[in-house]
Amino acid sequence: MTPGHFGLAAGAKKFAPRVPLWALFLSTYLLDVIFVFLLATGVEGITPLDPAHPNEYGGIIIHAEYTHSLVGALLISMLAGWLANLHWGRHGGIAIAVVAFSHWILDLLVHRPDLPILPGNFGNLPLLGFGLWEYPRASTALELILILVGTCLYFYSALKVSKGDKHRIAWTVSLVTASLLILLFVTNILGL
Ligand SMILES: [Zn+2]
Repeated sequence: MTPGHFGLAAGAKKFAPRVPLWALFLSTYLLDVIFVFLLATGVEGITPLDPAHPNEYGGIIIHAEYTHSLVGALLISMLAGWLANLHWGRHGGIAIAVVAFSHWILDLLVHRPDLPILPGNFGNLPLLGFGLWEYPRASTALELILILVGTCLYFYSALKVSKGDKHRIAWTVSLVTASLLILLFVTNILGL
């Protein structure tokens, strides 16, 4: 779902023009950024469904009991929103918090049930995940829609706020962003 997360973040630029694209990209991926650190320290983990093809599209179960628990994701998103609020005001703070939490919502749609409700899977409550990855055509279609709608919204907002020379820069940044997301999508689907 990596390209889908970034597609959504690009689209969010239309609703939060003051917040730079890098901040939206960082917030949409924040849960996974923290996950990578916890992965390195062995606190969280990842298991491929087919060890012979560890990069297969959607073929993973994650053990991210802190970063990807519902309450953990809410806390991380609220903290990111509070920090963003200091730089880009209330509107920017809300945008960052919503984009950060959108990561958990998209993961909820595609993951097989591996997302806990409470940090550390406290109380052994049922794990969540609607498992759209079981239907790769449906999940790739969802990702493609997120990328296309997201980059169109980004194009629209970047061109609207730019004038003269900056107009050309906005075109270039928009095209580069769209190309990178499509490239990321293709490599993700092919499991590269
Ligand atoms: Zn994730």
